[in-house]
Amino acid sequence: MKNSSSKATRINNILYLLISLPLWLSCGESPNRPDNLQKDNSKIIEKRPHLKRSLVVTPLGSTSPIYIQWAAKALNETYKMPVIVENSIPNRPDHHYTQEGKENKVNASKILNEFKSTKVIPVFITEADIAIDKKLKNGKQLIAYGIIGLGKQPIVLTRMSNSCAIVSTYRIKKIKSIETTRVRLQKAVVHEVGHNLSLPHCNNQRCVMVDAKGKVSNIDNAKKSFCKNCTNTIKEYLK
Ligand SMILES: [Zn+2]
Ligand SMILES: [Zn+2]
Repeated sequence: MKNSSSKATRINNILYLLISLPLWLSCGESPNRPDNLQKDNSKIIEKRPHLKRSLVVTPLGSTSPIYIQWAAKALNETYKMPVIVENSIPNRPDHHYTQEGKENKVNASKILNEFKSTKVIPVFITEADIAIDKKLKNGKQLIAYGIIGLGKQPIVLTRMSNSCAIVSTYRIKKIKSIETTRVRLQKAVVHEVGHNLSLPHCNNQRCVMVDAKGKVSNIDNAKKSFCKNCTNTIKEYLK
């Protein structure tokens, strides 16, 4: 009796750990991408120069203005699109998870779906931690966190592709080095907008499109710029 109950407790503990551990996730939110589109879709994009939109940077909740300035500057220096800074969207309870212990986490998937646009590219910056709903193979739903940003990633960029990105400073903030925080945030916004322009993750560890897998060290090792392949894919959008 004692043995089976302690075994049950052990299994419960393991299950609890499995669903409560932060998950290090890939940040491009996209449907499954066929292999032949992973390599190069530059020809498709080149034929559609009219796809250029404005980038609209919006603070989500109480966000330091310096983060917004840094994000807007990096986007302006990288992309050939006007960058507009909007007033902040006040903290809304319905943007957060309601589950106990998760109330401080913003539901990033919800933000992307609520604000997605085919006319502009909305980019949200928040100081709150972000999380997403994730469905496991066994059908179980869980709240996955440990992510730095999330960006809608169309398989092929078309006029009707929905765009939206969100970046959180929560996991990249370095109290002792404001400069490190700046560089990480700028890489993260350039990366998420790269997804919005249909770029997948890149195998080149030095490319800004590398999958950080939630590890800040992977962001630190990457440059703020695109590798040759990624540059070639979205060159119409780069300064
Ligand atoms: Zn990503
Ligand atoms: Zn690359």
